[in-house]
Amino acid sequence: MRLDKYICDASELTRKQAKQILKSGEITLNGQVVKNAATQVKEGDQVKWLDDEITLIGPRYIMLHKPMDMICSNIDEVYPSVLNLLDIEKKAELHIAGRLDADTTGLVLITNDGQWSHRITSPKHTCQKTYRVWLETAIDQTAVNQLEQGVLLHGEKQVTKPATVRVIEDKVILLTISEGKYHQVKRMLAATGNKVTYLHREQIGSVVLDAELEEGEWRYLTQDEIASF
Ligand code: URA
Repeated sequence: MRLDKYICDASELTRKQAKQILKSGEITLNGQVVKNAATQVKEGDQVKWLDDEITLIGPRYIMLHKPMDMICSNIDEVYPSVLNLLDIEKKAELHIAGRLDADTTGLVLITNDGQWSHRITSPKHTCQKTYRVWLETAIDQTAVNQLEQGVLLHGEKQVTKPATVRVIEDKVILLTISEGKYHQVKRMLAATGNKVTYLHREQIGSVVLDAELEEGEWRYLTQDEIASF
């Protein structure tokens, strides 16, 4: 990788700023001052800016407990982005693997690894997501069967893929789906004549929202969690 790109990737500097500090002799590569921005940095090389070593930030995988009234977007809109909750560097590199609505809480996965998030969000991979759904009206067996077999969402041509429903109480269910259509859970329940009053995502694939995480808190995923996708 070119030295100026390495400096940008490993810091908050722009390409122009990286070139300036190179020009002024502030960068050393394996102990030697290097001014040429096109110099190649190889694995194992040591790059220092004055006395500080600068290292590349590798892939990052994060689990976040999304609170209400925040959005799964990289920029703030009507509500602030959930990325505001992360006190880490280079947040612009990150993206959200499967969005939740502003009024939905629960498990959100965040990464800078595009191939990894593709395995979560791509329809081809049919990754399962489990939601705890609070309902306006008590659910009956007919609605459970409809949800499990597939319902026709408003504006769609094909019914939803088979889902599983676990009735917790008459107005609370666990719904597991393998698709991620816009407002899917709310629209599925609407198709059965019901209404979602509150929605919380508990699980994506085999990764379960950590009970230790309060709303707004986050942690890095474990190696097993990362490898599960
Ligand atoms: N389905 C919805 O309707 N909303 C969400 O936030 C997630 C799934």
